[in-house]
Amino acid sequence: MERREAGPHDVVIEIKYCGICHSDIHHARSEWGPTTYPVVPGHEIAGIVTQVGSEVTKYAAGDRVGVGCLVNSCRECAPCLRGEEQYCLQGSTLTYGSIDKDGTLTQGGYSTHIVVTEDFVVGIPEGIGLDEAAPLLCAGITTYSPLRRWGAGPGKKVAIVGLGGLGHMAVKLAHAMGAEVTVLSQSLKKVDDGLRLGADHYYATGDPATFEQLAGTFDIIVNTVSAKLELDSYLSLLAVGGAMINVGAPAEPLSLSVFSLIMQGRSYAGSLIGGLRETQEMLNFCAEHGIGAEVEVIPASGINEAYERVLGSDVRYRFVIDTATLA
Ligand code: NAP
Ligand code: ZN
Ligand code: ZN
Repeated sequence: MERREAGPHDVVIEIKYCGICHSDIHHARSEWGPTTYPVVPGHEIAGIVTQVGSEVTKYAAGDRVGVGCLVNSCRECAPCLRGEEQYCLQGSTLTYGSIDKDGTLTQGGYSTHIVVTEDFVVGIPEGIGLDEAAPLLCAGITTYSPLRRWGAGPGKKVAIVGLGGLGHMAVKLAHAMGAEVTVLSQSLKKVDDGLRLGADHYYATGDPATFEQLAGTFDIIVNTVSAKLELDSYLSLLAVGGAMINVGAPAEPLSLSVFSLIMQGRSYAGSLIGGLRETQEMLNFCAEHGIGAEVEVIPASGINEAYERVLGSDVRYRFVIDTATLA
């Protein structure tokens, strides 16, 4: 794979670690529609700047930086101007699988280097290791953004559905924001971890009693599950006026009864990663609160096995590739 020569606004990054997001698996396996191969996945990138273009002002060689799911956008439409580049009306340029401005296909972070325009690079604060920082670039921002937008904080009851990569970040972040946090996992297998990560309560969704016991409880539910869920059962757990936000992106359509929403004034919403400004804010928040991802660092030769373990809900709680093993 070739990277472009650094242009005046580009930053060349030596990638140290790249997280494995479940989205990489959906994409690599064409679950969201046909993928153009060959594809290099990876959008949880942490590394060191090795070179900068002549016009770059924000970064210098030696800086610790990250790149998430976005590498460019139009920068002119209303969402871009608001700092919501992920919702760019022209279509943002994703880190992999997008057509870049020069007509080539973007390729992601399971690689040793990447060249990115400086406005789509974020700084990784001192105090967060690059391995535990990598997953913040997708799993971190994807859960931080809806928690902030829907007001997670003191006095709010927040449930996180699914304790995987996104879910474990959601627990840490919601706890640090001061909310009362409940994990809704398929079983009680990971209960000790959940409580250690900052959850106040932990329930198994495989037990029907959970849904009776928790009916009408939560102000906010963040659904991180990568597979189809029976939404009505989860919506019944919302308090009056509560909101369930879907960040999980299963290929199959989900359905719900509108009565689950209208009778209690509940909302059901979606959220896609977060913009660049908010991603930097999230990294700073993590540094301030001593938050990183819980990672299992693997060599490149372990990627296929890691994919299988993610699919089997056997990830604790993010696989991160040590890219030195790619060289
Ligand atoms: P992950 O690590 O595999 O975590 C998903 C968790 O969902 C699993 O650990 C498991 O938790 C639970 N789960 C899996 N299959 C289930 C099933 N059949 N029924 C109930 N629960 C199930 O994946 P991830 O990397 O966190 O990503 C999760 C989803 O979010 C993926 O679809 C991904 O594409 C999507 N995503 C969306 C965005 C966005 O911007 N919206 C960004 C990144 C990722 P338990 O074992 O605790 O039950
Ligand atoms: Zn991701
Ligand atoms: Zn735009």
